[in-house]
Amino acid sequence: MKQADHPLWQRLDFFDQIKGFMARDEAENLYELGRDQARLGPCLEIGGYCGLSTVCIGLGVRERGGVLFSVDHHQGSEEHQPDEEYHDASLFDSRTGRMNSFPVFLQTITRAGLQETVVPIVAPSGLAARQWATPLSLVFIDGGHSFEAALRDYRGWAPQVMIGGMLAVHDIFTDPSQGGQAPHEIAKMAQASGLFEPAGMVNTLGLFRRLG
Ligand code: SAH
Ligand code: MG
Repeated sequence: MKQADHPLWQRLDFFDQIKGFMARDEAENLYELGRDQARLGPCLEIGGYCGLSTVCIGLGVRERGGVLFSVDHHQGSEEHQPDEEYHDASLFDSRTGRMNSFPVFLQTITRAGLQETVVPIVAPSGLAARQWATPLSLVFIDGGHSFEAALRDYRGWAPQVMIGGMLAVHDIFTDPSQGGQAPHEIAKMAQASGLFEPAGMVNTLGLFRRLG
């Protein structure tokens, strides 16, 4: 399929204007995941940031009339803080002295027409997971990339993936010179658990299907 023909690009004409960290092939795959998994139940992402992954998954979910929960405290990961590599000064709120990506996130999902699809959860991932009890058809992990944060997200959310559901992990670099290893480590844990089978890899996006 030529890239322009993909259904995501027929529904999203401002991808390049959204701040974020997602390649086009990964974006297409997230759309397909949302569309295919939403049939089984709600989807959830950790790490909405300015809404880029949210819109890709959400446009797929919308096709099925489904729901996408997007968990993010919107205060940025380590690498988004002032003086760090991925700091964006336009997202810094000088009144609170913190990053705040939530206003831009809301603008993005509104512009994409996802107000009736996306449920933002503005909270730390660990807190949102603590009493979560709804089986999820898709969990997309793209939050903090320290080992501590990635492990917390894996432990908190992987058990919530329903049988037949998908766990998707972003930023998997098998070569340590290409990027941090925390996402790769939790992907290996998913495989070693015996509860998930590998279901494909698109660029740095790893997919794992929950077995029965
Ligand atoms: N998926 C986004 C990028 C996410 S960047 C895209 O497609 O562009 C990582 C996000 O994870 C940041 O917005 C940060 O605020 C959030 N995050 C990091 N640690 C978190 C935690 N413990 N709880 C909730 N959100 C967290
Ligand atoms: Mg990422």
